[in-house]
Amino acid sequence: MTETVVKIKAQYSQKMRKGNPIVLKDAIVSADHLEAEGMIIRLVDEQNQFIGKGYYGKQNKGFGWILTRKENEPINHEFFHNKIMKAIQYRKPFFQNKETTAFRVFNGEGDGIGGLTIDYYDGYYVISWYSLGIYQFKEAIIEALTNLVPYKGIYQKKRFAEDGMYVEEDDFVTGERGQFPLIVKENGASFAVYLNEGAMVGVFLDQREVRKAIRDRYAKGKNVLNTFSYTGAFSVFAALGGAVKTTSVDLANRSRSKTIEQFSVNGIDYEAQDIIVEDVFHYFKYAVKKQLTFDLVVLDPPSFARSKKVTFSAAKDYTKLLKQAIAITADDGVIVASTNSASFDMKKFKGFIDRAFRDNGHKYKILEEYTLPADFKTIKEFEEGNYLKVVFIKKMR
Ligand code: SAH
Repeated sequence: MTETVVKIKAQYSQKMRKGNPIVLKDAIVSADHLEAEGMIIRLVDEQNQFIGKGYYGKQNKGFGWILTRKENEPINHEFFHNKIMKAIQYRKPFFQNKETTAFRVFNGEGDGIGGLTIDYYDGYYVISWYSLGIYQFKEAIIEALTNLVPYKGIYQKKRFAEDGMYVEEDDFVTGERGQFPLIVKENGASFAVYLNEGAMVGVFLDQREVRKAIRDRYAKGKNVLNTFSYTGAFSVFAALGGAVKTTSVDLANRSRSKTIEQFSVNGIDYEAQDIIVEDVFHYFKYAVKKQLTFDLVVLDPPSFARSKKVTFSAAKDYTKLLKQAIAITADDGVIVASTNSASFDMKKFKGFIDRAFRDNGHKYKILEEYTLPADFKTIKEFEEGNYLKVVFIKKMR
């Protein structure tokens, strides 16, 4: 394959040489000659010294990813085969675990190929392509996967703009089509997933350890509020852990039927739980007015959301959100504050937490913290890749 030389600005080349794999738009001296996504780019510094080789593909602020730092390593079928093989070997304990049958097999730059993820759902695989650039390597990647593992079926999600349109279509690729919902297991509990309904399949696998902690150590005998609840995964684990009652709040209409389904596949009587389709910020006001309090409050907002009246940005508004949550948390109650925003780190997140408790005049204690689980492999040279931050906080009297 021909390689196109891309010059990197001085202030970026050092970091990239040390292992940072992203090719930021701002790092490139001139992108004029970058034509087709998927072309192999050879990155050099301003003295024409080799930095690395990768591909051109547009994704957020990135213009591509470094794939190798070996000047003569070809980016071919064998290259992709070896990366995917290594990733599968790394997940061996996950493949062997009978209690958990859904996990991440390949995590982008953490496994050496930015812009590509592969998830496993009880024999089925879902490949997500985050740019048209990585999608150009589709054939080699699918061939590698199908040669390396037994599979029932393979699905794919294109998560990039095509012909100016953002498509989130899902395709069946090969094998046999699944029957949906597919019931997968997570630490012995069940989840109904749909691999053929757009980007989100019904459960976010990166919260696995947090759900387990809630079920095993925080839920028993508690009145639980789960905000931004989506399909109610945290509520299910709280109920399984012996919560007296769970209340799930999400704006999306579909969340009601989806949450009923998740309770049902776990043998939980959903009628004994509250499932509320409403803006969380309205619900907080309602709860204050009715003097409701909760022993355990889960906060897991999207990084960015726009509802009819309000826009929520985790980076700007998390403190505000926390203050409202603190107001309806019982003394000695616990708030599980979570964010998947890559735009701030744990230190800053703890700053938001501290600010919120101070403003409300309450003392607090951090009980434990979580970041991404092992199957969501990350590398230290790319800290933004470890986007998940979850803090269990006790509200003190
Ligand atoms: N906590 C969930 C995942 C949350 S995904 C889980 O663990 O599975 C984010 C969810 O927030 C989406 O379901 C979306 O519908 C919901 N949402 C976004 N803005 C909201 C708002 N203002 N009020 C309530 N829900 C909101």
